[in-house]
Amino acid sequence: MIPYGKQSIDQSDIDAVVETLKSPFLTQGPKVKEFEEKLAAYGGAKYAVAVSNGTAALHVAYLAAGIKAGDEVITSPNTFVATSNMLLIIGAKPVFCDIRPDTCNIDETKIEKLITKKTKAIVPVHFAGNPCGMDKIKSIAKKHKLLVIEDACHALGASFKDKKIGSVSDMSVFSFHPVKSITTGEGGAILTDNKKFYEKMLTLRSHGIHKDKKGLVVMTHMGWNYRLTDIQAALGVSQLKKLDGFIDARRQVVKWYKEAFKGFDEIILPKETTGSESAWHVYVIRVKNKKDRFPLANFLKEKGIGINFHYPAVYGQPYYRKNGYARTKLKEADLYTATLITLPLFGALSREDVKYIADCIKEYFSKK
Ligand SMILES: *Cc1c(COP(=O)(O)O)cnc(C)c1O
Repeated sequence: MIPYGKQSIDQSDIDAVVETLKSPFLTQGPKVKEFEEKLAAYGGAKYAVAVSNGTAALHVAYLAAGIKAGDEVITSPNTFVATSNMLLIIGAKPVFCDIRPDTCNIDETKIEKLITKKTKAIVPVHFAGNPCGMDKIKSIAKKHKLLVIEDACHALGASFKDKKIGSVSDMSVFSFHPVKSITTGEGGAILTDNKKFYEKMLTLRSHGIHKDKKGLVVMTHMGWNYRLTDIQAALGVSQLKKLDGFIDARRQVVKWYKEAFKGFDEIILPKETTGSESAWHVYVIRVKNKKDRFPLANFLKEKGIGINFHYPAVYGQPYYRKNGYARTKLKEADLYTATLITLPLFGALSREDVKYIADCIKEYFSKK
């Protein structure tokens, strides 16, 4: 079975973890700080806050931004459910904006008409690691005094124009789940240049407890235990050194896919935004005829190919349907939902693997 995604762990990663296991600190020690400093430097931000996973990172970012019950936040339906779930947890309302048919990212030209008096923030998701139209999104946010919080869980290592994702907006949220650009097992982080957000997130990840101005340890607001361990941070530091190489390897796989499908027009291949660099988190193709989606997906599964679906529109999930989104319909997102299939993409995929996958897809269409 070829999985759809897979981490890359080598001996230096293992050594780094073992070294921390033998050190005095398994958590709340120096490795977390080191990981944060290196992440911030890589992403071009002043501050980084490491937390226990990407979902927790979204939660504390939203809270630090001051998003509260009753607020509206405009986001993309083409995302993992955590993006909008963490808004619902706070009592805020996700407002789903349709996607662009080319990049499958939020359609920045459709954001402005969704803004109301209650809108507090825009949360673009860099789908598949391919940056959204951030210039336009930032100018809309500026005009309407909204915050921009990027769900950059797919996009560590990507660039928007010449800026690394992490340095583009108010806050950028990352995940280090094993299928993401780098891994800490479970893990997440937020990058920001804003000191107030930074300090708030540090306290939110640890029970709202912090040192006050007199140096007393106090709890002043509600918080969680969203801490990353030093064991995980040690893995993160080691992985981060290899990040650019990981992305180059993914980019090579994408080139092989492109070659393998040259002249084949039964499917639509994913495209990188002009002028930007994708982190190539996932490789999602679309079938031209909706009727082919499940039969092709099943055919590929039978052939040992670990296909997946990134993502059926979030508002179509049964929970969302039952909780206020029963009538939500977005033309492009609905079409995308009906036609998408995720093919395997990770650095260790070989040219032969890619050829095999492409041959299986061609075989399906030749037998029709
Ligand atoms: C992975 C992911 C998350 C959640 O990250 P976890 O570390 O799994 O909690 C959130 N948003 C997107 C777009 C993701 O891909």
